[in-house]
Amino acid sequence: MGKTTIIGGPSAKSGGAANATRTAAEGVAKIDVVAVNAQENRKLYQERIPIYPKLAHGLFRKIKWAFLFVLLGIYYVIPFVRWDRGPSAPDQAVLADFAGRRFYFFFIELWPQEVYYITGLLMLASFGLFMATAMFGRIWCGYACPQTVWTDLFIAVERMVEGDRNARLRLAKQPFSAEKAIKKAIKHAAWIAISFLTGGVFVLYFHDAPTVALGFFTGQAPISAYLFAAILTFTTYTLAGTMREQVCTYMCPWPRIQGAMTDEDTLEVAYRGYRGEPRGPHKKNDSWEGRGDCIDCLQCVAVCPMGIDIRDGDQLECINCALCIDACDAVMEKIGRPKGLIAYDTARNQDLARQHKKPVFKLFRPRVMLYVILLAGIGGAMLYGLVNRSTLELNTLRDRSPIFVQLSDGSIRNGYTVKILNKATIARSFRISVAGIEGASLKAAGAQKQSEFMVVEAGANKVRTLKIYVTIQADTAKVLKASVPIAILVAETNGNEDAVNNTVFLSGKK
Ligand code: SF4
Ligand code: SF4
Repeated sequence: MGKTTIIGGPSAKSGGAANATRTAAEGVAKIDVVAVNAQENRKLYQERIPIYPKLAHGLFRKIKWAFLFVLLGIYYVIPFVRWDRGPSAPDQAVLADFAGRRFYFFFIELWPQEVYYITGLLMLASFGLFMATAMFGRIWCGYACPQTVWTDLFIAVERMVEGDRNARLRLAKQPFSAEKAIKKAIKHAAWIAISFLTGGVFVLYFHDAPTVALGFFTGQAPISAYLFAAILTFTTYTLAGTMREQVCTYMCPWPRIQGAMTDEDTLEVAYRGYRGEPRGPHKKNDSWEGRGDCIDCLQCVAVCPMGIDIRDGDQLECINCALCIDACDAVMEKIGRPKGLIAYDTARNQDLARQHKKPVFKLFRPRVMLYVILLAGIGGAMLYGLVNRSTLELNTLRDRSPIFVQLSDGSIRNGYTVKILNKATIARSFRISVAGIEGASLKAAGAQKQSEFMVVEAGANKVRTLKIYVTIQADTAKVLKASVPIAILVAETNGNEDAVNNTVFLSGKK
């Protein structure tokens, strides 16, 4: 502890030299104690203050219930929805089949080579989110983010078991009792059950849902299913049950980023201070002259799942759930003042209102239009790609070792690995041939005869891999350049579809 930094300690002028020294020393000791105490009190992280949100009633609470039921309904039910794709493919409507290396989404089937559609989907989701944020602020956070939806569900369960805000506050203050223990046990058991259901359903998106759902309880499911169900159970319980608003405030990057997408024309939940201030309690027959409409009842704070006071202005913690609008509207109705003291509003309109000017709504601004153009462009390109999606793909890889072989009769042979991707739901036969070089013959590895072309079968929804050899007779090879561009052609025997890969034939010349 540095003793030269006494601030406000006793001065030497307060007595003799000895006294001054003693007094100074006492002062140092005192300062030291204060410093130690300050250090003990200083914590790296602020301790969480538990929040007990009150149930709000109103339009936005209804909208949030609707989002909760629809989104959770989709999540829990989708893996059990069937979609007939014929005998060669699974009949699960939405399935990420890692074992079969396919992704199924209703009528869409994506192969690993088509991962760019997933990239496109992520870009659509991102630009959609940017656009929604530019128009309506943190609408995603308030209504549709999984953290919001599951936390809302967990709070609803807590409310069902322990009662509304006041009852929960009382219970929290109560000393340990049998009633308290039972309520806490029921709540946590319900939370764990929901978490397990959430984790269990998650793994059904990666396997045949009915099979794995049954096998899960008889030990027949894959080990990865148990592992991921356990991880998701744990994260759901922790994030939605115990961490709640802390995830949005401390863990999620979106509140920090979204400020870049909003401007003075973005609709956000706002307290209209110009109307509410000066605030203060109001008795029934008191005049409203010279005062604001806010009666400082704190109902907006009581319902807030983030535990903040919207009247303090824009805050990083505010998820724009609009529950404070419901709470305040109910208060306004009760005291006979116009609703909308807290409302979706823009910064521009609040300024205009302060100047007693008419509001201006500019939802479709240049940045919004830019997002619309990007969404339309990417969405259109993806749609075009899906509609014109080929069900045949060809990949050809030339042998690197040896790069060519000279046979005993002087002819030159090059090897190629050909992969025919038959994305159709029926088996098909294909004719393989070579173009770009005179007198080339080909045969599959292990075959005896060489010919101009060969015919192979590829099963429904399967990749047919085969090794082929292209051979040029000695006299023709002599006049070839060192590297001759050729094409491997694969055409469906009924002429419906074909594919071509360009490669080279190496004649062995230097
Ligand atoms: S609910 Fe409305 S009136 Fe009550 S404190 Fe909040 S803003 Fe003021
Ligand atoms: S301040 Fe209002 S909008 Fe923001 S999180 Fe709280 S209740 Fe939701």
